Amino acid sequence: MSKFKMAEYIWLDGATPTRYVRSKARVVDVGSNPSIKDFPEWSFDGSSTNQAEGHDSDCILKPVSFIADPIRGEGNFLVMTEVYTPDDQPHESNSRAQLRAVLDAGAAAQEPWAGFEQEYTLFANRTPLGWPESGFPGPQGPYYCGVGADEVHGREIAEHHAKVCLEAGLIYYGLNAEVMPGQWEFQIGFRGDPKEACDVLNISDHVWFGRWLLYRVAEEYDVSVSTHNKPVRGDWNGAGMHTNFSTRDTRDPKKGRAAIDAAVEALAAKHQEHIVLYGAGLERRLTGLHETCDINTFRAGAADRGASIRIPKPVDQKGYGYFEDRRPGANADPYLVAARLCTTVCGVDEAVMQFNSWPREETQLAAVAAE
Ligand code: ADP
Ligand code: MN
Ligand code: MN
Ligand code: MN
Repeated sequence: MSKFKMAEYIWLDGATPTRYVRSKARVVDVGSNPSIKDFPEWSFDGSSTNQAEGHDSDCILKPVSFIADPIRGEGNFLVMTEVYTPDDQPHESNSRAQLRAVLDAGAAAQEPWAGFEQEYTLFANRTPLGWPESGFPGPQGPYYCGVGADEVHGREIAEHHAKVCLEAGLIYYGLNAEVMPGQWEFQIGFRGDPKEACDVLNISDHVWFGRWLLYRVAEEYDVSVSTHNKPVRGDWNGAGMHTNFSTRDTRDPKKGRAAIDAAVEALAAKHQEHIVLYGAGLERRLTGLHETCDINTFRAGAADRGASIRIPKPVDQKGYGYFEDRRPGANADPYLVAARLCTTVCGVDEAVMQFNSWPREETQLAAVAAE
């Protein structure tokens, strides 16, 4: 076996209003059991990713975590990186550095965990997968968790994605077909084993690895993946990224109820600060219909899927565990969602949270059809 293996370096670009993943590969000689320090820093042309001007275009990629590459197979790696400027500062698009800053400023002591439910829509050309070329499929109802060729479209892609996520060692939790036909969800997060690293930083890395793998797998089917919040206007569900969140105190059987109540109260006071970081075009999804709470209202409730924050029924009954923030859109950046949740719930100094909004201009995403 050749000692030369490939490492696919992944980073977030500076695209507005929604950042996207980029990656490029290089040959590495890191042995079969490397540590993150064995992967060299690298650079790329930031003028092609909205991260630098053409006359001074180098940006630096710093490896921060890695997993097995299930696409190239045994011995190859996928490497998550943070983007730095040549003078060794986190680039202004580096939202992972923002999450690290919030953790370092005190949130880490409360051991925040997250679980993300990533919804997405598959598109073939300009229509969601399985939709007729003109007109619409039958109204929503039979599609959510459906089975059968009339109900679900693209299962081979969703299952192929599940397989590679597990081979890569991601903390992949599960998948389901969604309410709108052609729409799916996968989850990354706590699976019941406290030995797995479900801290917000690792789980957010895994969401980005999971997204990269989804785009990559779907390439092989010539299908595109959209994380648009509202891929089809009208009476069709949008796509979200529900974020399940807990701290040492919310998980504590004695302190849980009070800690969850306190978290909800803190979140109620910071609704707008969260909304501006939860994905571009969120107003199209948070309408008050289709299992959402409207964007201008904050509401929390047990088992309420029309609330901003839902306390799952079993958590409400036991009196401890986690809560679900239903507001983030499918196009939100998990690093920023987690950083904002940690700031509010763990009482971190607001000055540390420098990403106070993400550019909100409404640009058209490539894969958005039917708008
Ligand atoms: P829903 O009922 O909203 O569809 P899912 O079953 O899709 O929920 O996802 C549940 C999510 O909750 C998973 O991502 C899981 O990792 C996460 N989760 C479970 N327990 C915890 C916890 N203690 N802290 C944070 N997240 C958790
Ligand atoms: Mn779900
Ligand atoms: Mn869902
Ligand atoms: Mn959910």
